[in-house]
Amino acid sequence: TRKSSHNFNAGPAALPPEVLQQVAAELENFDDTGMSIMEHSHRAEPYERVHHEAIATAKRLLGISDDYEVLLLQGGASHQFAMVPYNLLDADQRANYILTGAWSEKAKNEADILGDTYSGGSGKDQAYRRVPDFDTIDAAAEDAYIHVTSNNTIYGTAWQDFARMSEWEAPVVADMSSDIFSRTFPVENFDLIYAGAQKNIGPAGVTVVIISRALLERIKNVNPRVPAILRYDTHADKHSLYHTPPTFAVYMLKNTLHWIEENGGLSAMEARNRQKAQLLYDTIDNSAGFYRGHAHRDSRSDMNVTFTLPTETITNRFLDEAKDMGFSGLNGHRSVGGCRASLYNAVPYESVEALRDFMVSFQRKNQ
Ligand code: PMP
Repeated sequence: TRKSSHNFNAGPAALPPEVLQQVAAELENFDDTGMSIMEHSHRAEPYERVHHEAIATAKRLLGISDDYEVLLLQGGASHQFAMVPYNLLDADQRANYILTGAWSEKAKNEADILGDTYSGGSGKDQAYRRVPDFDTIDAAAEDAYIHVTSNNTIYGTAWQDFARMSEWEAPVVADMSSDIFSRTFPVENFDLIYAGAQKNIGPAGVTVVIISRALLERIKNVNPRVPAILRYDTHADKHSLYHTPPTFAVYMLKNTLHWIEENGGLSAMEARNRQKAQLLYDTIDNSAGFYRGHAHRDSRSDMNVTFTLPTETITNRFLDEAKDMGFSGLNGHRSVGGCRASLYNAVPYESVEALRDFMVSFQRKNQ
């Protein structure tokens, strides 16, 4: 049996126990085929059914139709940092990267290698404590695309809503690595969305890309020197079976998306994730400054709650004691330090309550 622990890892992260139990039950004999799903050809019916079901479930959850293509690729979000400009940035254009954290910067750095970029908005001079106010952002119809990071995993900030992005005339591209399928959002305001699965929807190894048909049509004319493997239309034309997909990761993705659907879909995930995050933000806000949140209130993420304690010594004591109590993954990202609790879909409410109780008792003993 699994040792009980509270998993607050930033990614790879907690998976639903029901999904793990299902995998264990069918590991050696998938669907009465006499072999594991990992041992099937990606061209054979048992895997193809899983593959297409993963795509269909993603579309159902997002409420999208054939206006969008869902692609299952490899290489993680970092691979998309390169693939986006390869496909979308023409020589006579500039791409607009709204900087909200380290991952946005990394995305922009890759595009800088291939072409011209600028930043129409940035939270860098405020230590990425908040996402720029929409009214201060420069966006031009001539931009090759406008790139945003919906949730900033390291700093614990997030765009609170995406409604006004419909005002942008250029294609909108979003890195949703750390909040995809954790909340509802207007898909129609985006032309391209990408995310590694390893936080909210499965294990590492598969990257979900959601791309509008209109954008796919447009990029048919991209630079002919882009290798076929790096082109979105290559993968779209073959329904993400252009080459061997990460079959086991796709199978896990399918099971995790089913779990989301069976548990009420995106609006139910959003309500539960909001409640979980609120438990910790209330604890921070009611601690008289003992716990200090990194994110400004108006930009708080429901996925990653980042905070520090009065001194580094006390922070380290907190992390050590938390570890002994069975809480894992609470260290902040190595670039910023402090603490971070990641509360992705599969993190149970009870784990967050246990962390809240630990935080309250730790403060009592250490202030
Ligand atoms: N973007 C964001 C917002 C992330 O949180 C991460 C991973 N933590 C990445 C990109 C990089 O993802 P990958 O490791 O899948 O390349």
